[in-house]
Amino acid sequence: MIAFLDLPRQYQQIKPEIDDAIASIVQRGAFIGGSAVSQFESQFAKYQDAEHCVGVGNGTDAIEIAIEALSLPPNSEIIVPANSFVASSEAVTRSGHEVVFADIDHSTYLIDPDDVARRITPATAAIMAVHLYGQPAEMDRLCEIAEKHGLKILEDCAQAHGAEFDGQRVGTIGDIGTFSFYPGKNLGAYGDAGAIVTDDPDLARRCRMIANHGRVEKYNHEFEGRNSRLDALQAAVLSVKLKKLDEWIELRNVVARAYSRTLAGVSGIVAPHERTGVRHSYHLYVVQVEKRDALRQFLSDHEIQSGVHYPIALPKLSAYANHKQSEEDMVATRLDRALLSLPIGEHLREEDAYFVCEKIKSFLSS
Ligand SMILES: *Cc1c(COP(=O)(O)O)cnc(C)c1O
Repeated sequence: MIAFLDLPRQYQQIKPEIDDAIASIVQRGAFIGGSAVSQFESQFAKYQDAEHCVGVGNGTDAIEIAIEALSLPPNSEIIVPANSFVASSEAVTRSGHEVVFADIDHSTYLIDPDDVARRITPATAAIMAVHLYGQPAEMDRLCEIAEKHGLKILEDCAQAHGAEFDGQRVGTIGDIGTFSFYPGKNLGAYGDAGAIVTDDPDLARRCRMIANHGRVEKYNHEFEGRNSRLDALQAAVLSVKLKKLDEWIELRNVVARAYSRTLAGVSGIVAPHERTGVRHSYHLYVVQVEKRDALRQFLSDHEIQSGVHYPIALPKLSAYANHKQSEEDMVATRLDRALLSLPIGEHLREEDAYFVCEKIKSFLSS
């Protein structure tokens, strides 16, 4: 069986360190805040090459809190790619702003800067760059557009820990970056967890206050915030796993290269385009196939798990039935029925990718 994700296997490889890390938190009874959290925050800031890191409850809260910290005028328009997880757009609405969907590039599946430029109105205040599947969005062009129109850039890095654009880690190329440590992400906790990174000390301070009841000290609250803190237990787990992350990203790249080499030129399937000059973290390896559902079934019959990210483009979700772009024709709204995520992860080897490709080829030629 070729699994899509194998967290129990990963745990077995790092069990002694993880068990020690968890035991030390439980023995000290230090579940909220404390040194495990601040240690992870500084380790992750260093890893992402950011001045500041604020741990929060999950990746969705991270986006919401980051938007709130940007202090945009109420009901501002924020441009979000039409292909992402719903958290990206949901956080915009929940923080009191308007979602404007921009289309994606058909070969990288990432937000299309030309379309972003076309969507700008006087109400636009920010662009959300989602480094989807682990590949950095075109940050040079997005930053140029943002600069020209005085917009903020938020990077949703939930799938892109360690990814780089032009030698620079994602997260601080724009104004603020958000991460998810959902268990299945490349760097995953043992429950929900997230973080915000920025080079701006004021933004970092505002995020920390928003995430912790607007407090400056224990019972002195400057404004109403919320409770979205990174658990000490999760921070301790993440500190152990962070040390393995680069090795795991490299293993993902080995699998991705094997897929891309083998699938190049095979008719009936389009491999994802990796742009030059990026470090792709390959959270997902997403191909396009017309007979997607039949191939998925065929792979499953041969004990190969796969996924679909995402089966319904954001504007077409019921949640956006009343959105003015709900019926707009876009690359994203046509491509969603063809996307297929092949298994990838540190639990797989090159040989597994070749095996998956053999099965795909036999399906496509039958
Ligand atoms: C996972 C994910 C999120 C949300 O993170 P959670 O920790 O599950 O709240 C946001 N954006 C993208 C692109 C994601 O993949």
